[in-house]
Amino acid sequence: MISIKSEREIELLAIAGNVVYQTHKYLKPFIKPGITTKELDKLAEEFIRSQGCTPSFLGYEGFPNTLCTSINSEVVHGIPSNYKLKNGDIISIDIGACFKGYHGDSAWTYAVGNISDDAKYIMEHTEKSLYVGLKEIKPGKRIGDIGAAIEEYAHAHNLGVVKELVGHGVGTTVHEEPDVPNFGTKGTGPVLRKGMVIAVEPMLTLGSPEIVILDNDWTIETEDYSLSAHFEHTVAVTDDGYRILTGELKGGLNGQK
Ligand code: MG
Ligand code: MG
Repeated sequence: MISIKSEREIELLAIAGNVVYQTHKYLKPFIKPGITTKELDKLAEEFIRSQGCTPSFLGYEGFPNTLCTSINSEVVHGIPSNYKLKNGDIISIDIGACFKGYHGDSAWTYAVGNISDDAKYIMEHTEKSLYVGLKEIKPGKRIGDIGAAIEEYAHAHNLGVVKELVGHGVGTTVHEEPDVPNFGTKGTGPVLRKGMVIAVEPMLTLGSPEIVILDNDWTIETEDYSLSAHFEHTVAVTDDGYRILTGELKGGLNGQK
């Protein structure tokens, strides 16, 4: 069942989402050649806890860390390690935080030092495809409208759409109904209603969209080792559109955390 959140629940989700956003902002200056993904993970965990939240992914289905850190051809669910970021890498960082039982979920891909034109291209167009998808959101539209718009944009830019991984509802669990695919057919799927909260998260590839899962049973990589990028926001459906919850906190519970 797809849950409809009350206004108070949406404010709690916005607080969690804002902490996710602040964690991204906090980490950004540290994303430089030489830092390990484990060090980034530690910084993120300490920051999330300092904001009165808990990391959503730590222990989720056994996931061992706060962040998912996916480098270059890794798509999602990379496990922080002693790998040192190097000039020219791109890194997708997925962050979840929980406030009073409500979650926020947002991923962003970052450049490490100077990156190739190919890396710039996939980052730019994966981020744009997220907003192309979000633009579809308003009451009465359907989940398939979001995926169709993302897929059309990706294909127009010669990028692959990973189909095995999808966006999702967000609430008192970090993954709930409905699935929000990055592909689909306009006018199909569940109808969007005010109070639904969903994470939209295109995962695009420069080459083949086929993926493989690595021996650690978590990390997902492109089969052809082509670059991949991942951009995600958690949003609430409003009266006439959507509100990004994993951004700046506007209003809401007097800015209380
Ligand atoms: Mg995420
Ligand atoms: Mg997600």
